[in-house]
Amino acid sequence: MVGEAYAEKLEKLGIETVEDLLHHYPFRYEDWSFVSKIGGCQPGEKVTFYVTILSIKNVFARTGKRMQKAVVADRTGQMEITWFNQPFLVKNLKPGTKVALAGKVDTFGTKKQMVAPEHEIIKVKSQKLKVRSYYSNNYSYNNIHTGRLVPVYPETAGVSSKWLRSRIAPLVKKLVPQMQDYLPLSIRKQFAICDLPRAIRSVHFPKDKKAVAKARKRLGFDELLFLHLKALSRKSRWQSYQATKPFKFDQEKINKFIKKLPFELTGAQKKAVSEILKDLQKQKPMNRLLEGDVGSGKTIVAAIAAYAAHLSGIKTGIMAPTEILAEQHFQTFKKLFKPFGLKIELITGSHKSQITNHKSQIAITIGTHALLWQKFDHENLGLVVIDEQHRFGVAQRAKLTKKGKSPHLLTMTATPIPRTVALTLYADLDLSILDEMPKGRKPVKTWVVPEEKREAGYQWIREKIKEGNQAFIICPLIEPSQSEKMANIKAATEEFEKLSKKIFPDLKLLLLHGRIKSKEKNKIIEKFKAKKADILVSTPVVEVGIDIENATIIVIEAAERFGLAQLHQMRGRVGRGEKQSYCLLFSSDGKATRRLKAMEKYQSGLKLAEIDLKIRGPGEIYGTSQSGFLDLKIASFSDKKLIKKTKQAVEDLFPRLDKLPLLKEELEKVTIEDVHPN
Ligand code: ADP
Ligand code: MG
Repeated sequence: MVGEAYAEKLEKLGIETVEDLLHHYPFRYEDWSFVSKIGGCQPGEKVTFYVTILSIKNVFARTGKRMQKAVVADRTGQMEITWFNQPFLVKNLKPGTKVALAGKVDTFGTKKQMVAPEHEIIKVKSQKLKVRSYYSNNYSYNNIHTGRLVPVYPETAGVSSKWLRSRIAPLVKKLVPQMQDYLPLSIRKQFAICDLPRAIRSVHFPKDKKAVAKARKRLGFDELLFLHLKALSRKSRWQSYQATKPFKFDQEKINKFIKKLPFELTGAQKKAVSEILKDLQKQKPMNRLLEGDVGSGKTIVAAIAAYAAHLSGIKTGIMAPTEILAEQHFQTFKKLFKPFGLKIELITGSHKSQITNHKSQIAITIGTHALLWQKFDHENLGLVVIDEQHRFGVAQRAKLTKKGKSPHLLTMTATPIPRTVALTLYADLDLSILDEMPKGRKPVKTWVVPEEKREAGYQWIREKIKEGNQAFIICPLIEPSQSEKMANIKAATEEFEKLSKKIFPDLKLLLLHGRIKSKEKNKIIEKFKAKKADILVSTPVVEVGIDIENATIIVIEAAERFGLAQLHQMRGRVGRGEKQSYCLLFSSDGKATRRLKAMEKYQSGLKLAEIDLKIRGPGEIYGTSQSGFLDLKIASFSDKKLIKKTKQAVEDLFPRLDKLPLLKEELEKVTIEDVHPN
């Protein structure tokens, strides 16, 4: 339906199918529904006119810019219209063309005029342009860009709302009448929600604001409903798995291991460990989510579980989303377990397993998603740990789990979801929460730094580095994406050149991005860890989970391009030791300051995610991979009432799913989601 160039751009918005396009919801509407006449309009009013083009021509402004000047008329008068840099309009809007113009009425001296209005050619020549009253809603004219509430969509470079409207409108017209609702009437009545075809039509091209509210109510209901349904179907699948062999280990040995750690476990860690160890001694495979803010110490909890497995003669597999993280876990585990003689191996795209026989005696295999297809000895794999689980797709998680025989599963995440919400939406999981930071952590001092203070900021960083600190500098995000895109790498390389030649010629800088070979990447990190450089410049994607204690400063460029949850994740790279750490958010966008200031005030990921949702609304966040949240376009996790309602609906629907083939089919569709980690 669309060319390859567009297909690629749409993919960035998460749109791959016609259905995705129908479910690409606007996040706001421009209100052009007030239809007026040239004679009767007032300056300052936002109106739509139905007019005829009398004349149009290109004019060169003194600045060299091209303007298009037109004179238009209706029965009540004439008006001058100006556009900028749209020379094609002279071809498209020939004199005599009937057109709808939507814009704000302006004045030029004493004359009324309009600057850069939206336009829409009225195609049906025979259609009578009767306007019943100045105040009528003229949606009956099939307009999509003017004369109505006009949808504004999440956009990406090269895909404008106007383009999206022109593609979505024919789809709505063609597909919505044949669309069937997968929710039975009884449920729709009980919860007072409208039918699906109406919701889809109204969310894109609503009759009025009331219709928008109704549509959003239904679509938000569905979002949470499917999260619930998915959780329940995963739960029933999990319960149908075979029983596993209960772990048998000597608790005393585990206590000894914990005592040998260089720190004392936090209360939250102790509780999580005891919950996990209890699970591991059961026949039913564990399915537990360990949720904890960045830096709360999830890794050590996983390590203790792996040790319990080893003591029971059972292997552990750990999957991390990036090579750097896998390598880092590998180093941490090697160090932790060296005194106890455990063998640990690493498997990534560039690290193959050395072991081919089944009696390898490897206790723990750590890797990236390469674990999914590379050969390793998974005979006896009885515990699977998945770090940063939100970065993997359901299918990938399932695939690793299947390598073992009903293994216990521990997933870990820093995604901030409130406990009550997690308990309902992850009904299939048991939950352990690390809601306590290790002792001695100081809040990361955070400042939003406007452009005029950039120089002073650099000066301050230099002084701190002279005192022996190290710094991360995160480059601007050019292309939001799960994987590393060329534009980001280019920006990072340029930034690196600028910083090392002009700003910090006296310091040692390193550059890290996704296209650097992974062996090289690890060398760079090791070098930085060994304090052989002062500053690590990196793209936004690479940094997840890096743990370098002496790095106490993080600078984030163009901070306004990130969501707060994401900024918080990045800030979590510092403040991991006892030293005071700092986060500088460079931003030249004054409009974003209020939002960014929240980072100065709050240290909790959960709080920040909530604020982000409130300020920007889910609509502006989703589709840009900035959410740090599950993909909710309309519903909100803080809407406890809606969560309760959908839970009630699901309890009614799930047991009779077999009698609801449409719903079942839809549910199967939504479970096949796959996030590609880089
Ligand atoms: P995350 O939960 O973000 O994965 P990590 O497991 O990487 O956090 O832990 C962050 C840092 O805190 C690591 O350097 C780790 O050694 C340290 N750490 C973990 N638990 C404690 C604790 N109880 N006391 C002090 N430091 C701890
Ligand atoms: Mg971690």
